[in-house]
Amino acid sequence: MNRQLLLSFQGPHHPEILSRLGALLDSWPVLLLDLHGLEQDQIFSGLWQLEWVSEQDPQLMEKSLCSLMQEFDMQFRLSQSEAQPKKEQRFILTLLGEHLSTSLLAQLLQRLQQEELLVHGLQPLESQRLRVLELQLRTHQQLDRPRLLRDLLPLHQQHHVDFALQPESLFRRHKRLIVFDADMTFIQCEIINEMSQLVGCEAEVKVLTEAAMRGELDFEEALRARVRLLKGLHRDDLESLLRQLPYTPGVRRLVRVLKQLGYKLALLSGGFQLFVDHICEEFHLDYGFANSLEWQDGRLTGELLGEIVDGQRKAQLLQEIAAREGIVPEQVVAIGDGANDVQMLAIAGLGIAFNAKPVLQERASGQLNQPNLDALLYFLGLSGQELANC
Ligand SMILES: [Mg+2]
Repeated sequence: MNRQLLLSFQGPHHPEILSRLGALLDSWPVLLLDLHGLEQDQIFSGLWQLEWVSEQDPQLMEKSLCSLMQEFDMQFRLSQSEAQPKKEQRFILTLLGEHLSTSLLAQLLQRLQQEELLVHGLQPLESQRLRVLELQLRTHQQLDRPRLLRDLLPLHQQHHVDFALQPESLFRRHKRLIVFDADMTFIQCEIINEMSQLVGCEAEVKVLTEAAMRGELDFEEALRARVRLLKGLHRDDLESLLRQLPYTPGVRRLVRVLKQLGYKLALLSGGFQLFVDHICEEFHLDYGFANSLEWQDGRLTGELLGEIVDGQRKAQLLQEIAAREGIVPEQVVAIGDGANDVQMLAIAGLGIAFNAKPVLQERASGQLNQPNLDALLYFLGLSGQELANC
């Protein structure tokens, strides 16, 4: 009669343990069906699923295992497998902040325990200006990742610590495409507000922009209303804006490092193509899409040309670029700050809300509330030591 057995063990790591265990199992008619083993510092543990294909009682096997495990000062348990063990899911939770307090860790670990998420590893990535810690998590339960992230938001607010939660997979450290929002993400202004100053309608435009970014107004409707207010603005008046775009601190280093790592870079903006083209040229970005203004005799007509780049179009463009480059969505990073970034962040493998409005923070897989955009690199699993060489 065949029996399926689970062998779990834990104890001080010893280089010989695996080979001795293998030799012992080989002395019986035992098949290895599945195994999970891990080493954490000096502790070694594992969960192996075995098929015992003998008529003999597994107690005999247990006896031999007992003397082997005693020899290596390890604890073990051999149990009958009632059913196939549920597939294990693994996640990486990255914490990033100026301080990581023990109070934060206590509250966080309690919350993770409630979700039956087991912390099986801790990896500090940086301990200089920022403290960055990766928690390796595993569970056999179905995790509601968006709900857990929403539940962690109060911890972020209370302790000023950013979180990103990602499935641990082949793609986590092998992202290949990054998609940036422009206004208040790649640059530190809303371009349309800056343009409105040139025609003296700043207050009206600003109110519409803020309501649209909070998701309180339909994006296209708010955009068309603001562009109508810009009617008559001359192309030459925009030169000083183009020359003095306030790039977000850290963006040049971020772009340089991502290019070294072979990333494709795209800028997807609900703003205007004129500015996106300028930024793409300056930073040698691979793709840039935004809305096209209509000009007549060098002046704005107050109308837009072609398809509007709103939240839905940004998400479509992300998919089109990824498909063109042969990149799966799990290998895409999207980062933005406004309501019109919700959809593109939702389909990216890693969607980061950058100093974002609450509507986006509640839907992202992580949030970054730092002045410097290059802090994003930690969420890609890069350590301070690795970055020092970039
Ligand atoms: Mg924005």
